[in-house]
Amino acid sequence: MSTIEQLRERFIAKKASATELAREAIARAKKHADLNAFITLDEVGALKAAAAVDAQRPEGPLAGVPVAVKDLFMQDGTRTTAGSKILGDHVAAYDATTVQKLRAAGAVIIGKLNMDEFAMGSSNENSAFGPVKNPWDQARTAGGSSGGSAAAVAARIVPGTLGTDTGGSIREPAAFSGIVGMKPTYGRVSRYGVIAFASSLDQVGPFATTVTDTAHLLAAIAGHDPKDSTSADRPVPAYARGLEDGVKGVRLGVPKEYFTDGIAPDVRRAVDAAIAVYQKLGATLVDVSLPHTEHAIAAYYLLCTAEASSNLARYDGVRYGLSKGREAGLAPMYDRTRSEGFGDEVKRRVLLGTYVLSAGYYDAYYLKAQKVRTLIVRDFQKAHEQCDALITPTVPFTAFALGEKTQDPLQMYLADVFTVSCNMAGLPGVSLPCGFDAKGLPIGLQLLGKAFDEHALLRIARAYERETSWHERTPPGVA
Ligand code: GLN
Repeated sequence: MSTIEQLRERFIAKKASATELAREAIARAKKHADLNAFITLDEVGALKAAAAVDAQRPEGPLAGVPVAVKDLFMQDGTRTTAGSKILGDHVAAYDATTVQKLRAAGAVIIGKLNMDEFAMGSSNENSAFGPVKNPWDQARTAGGSSGGSAAAVAARIVPGTLGTDTGGSIREPAAFSGIVGMKPTYGRVSRYGVIAFASSLDQVGPFATTVTDTAHLLAAIAGHDPKDSTSADRPVPAYARGLEDGVKGVRLGVPKEYFTDGIAPDVRRAVDAAIAVYQKLGATLVDVSLPHTEHAIAAYYLLCTAEASSNLARYDGVRYGLSKGREAGLAPMYDRTRSEGFGDEVKRRVLLGTYVLSAGYYDAYYLKAQKVRTLIVRDFQKAHEQCDALITPTVPFTAFALGEKTQDPLQMYLADVFTVSCNMAGLPGVSLPCGFDAKGLPIGLQLLGKAFDEHALLRIARAYERETSWHERTPPGVA
């Protein structure tokens, strides 16, 4: 398969039209239909969009390139489900800003990718449309909640996709699928038109097979958006430039709380080896501490459920989506619509979130979690005074078997132990391939940067990628 850069090159050199590139991608999506990566493969819409690109001959960074987005992004006239039965037939009435930006950069969107319902989950098993299968081993999860976004890139169906990351939903599936995934700084990318899960944590970001492609995607989607008041009004650097500058003199912080006993030995070995590569390349290692890490999961699951319970109140059968029991009156309509429309994990979170926000428990849970969040922000501020970026495993283990954790939500939540803090601090993070375990499953290396310093993260990631060949390996049966 080709990278974004290679496909764009084919298009610019007129070796392939956008229509041909879209057709090829659609054929690959059909060939790999068993992965269940797509909720909607939009063949008609994609070919129409490709014809327009062929007529206009754009020269943007994604010119002619087929891509796909998580089914959380509004795409005008296209079904947008959030992986939920409650929006199972919902057709978006407008475009997310990021969808518009992909098009403005010359890309062709071929479909909407599978995901955990409302982005709640770490394995894609909470999708109303069935789990996504990991291209490296179909009995295993591709990760979640952006599982389809990761699998579509890992299976080389499209060279780039978009997902969202609230507590790890880009980095964890990227790690499990052997590709690059980046969660930008909170506010770096517009959330307008992206269905909200936990608004103070949600952030849009790219998946790709290489760091340079990741930079091209980020450059295309980043920037201020007057329609999202939380988007940052800062210039967007040319992310794809200067990526080959290396890491001489770069200080990498190794947080001791991320190197504990719970890590699978193969993951530990791979991350240690990656750290050694950085040393060889001239980076300096610094021991740092993020002392409140042990409270991160608890605080995250209080805050995200609180925000989710509020955000999801709008799915009540009145204006859009599923509507059941209308004839019986308002309360029965709410009751039936939400009982039948939401899956178990969403219900669990709405209940938990409503509880932690309730008058008697607000101080004990929600407020306390907010205070922990502040402590976590300070942990990172202190650590980043000593280094340019932190280096950690993305997940303590590799892709687990489908069904392995579905009966135990707490075990599922623990998959996020190394990813949630970054969201609570609003910082950028990237996961990149750093090896394989004894079962042949990919291992992810995580780099956590300073606010709005994605460019440094990409440069640091690229230095490692150039020195290694993990990113060149493809899953069995994938060319
Ligand atoms: N796995 C985490 C959760 O279930 C993170 C999800 C996400 O980042 N969207 O909340």
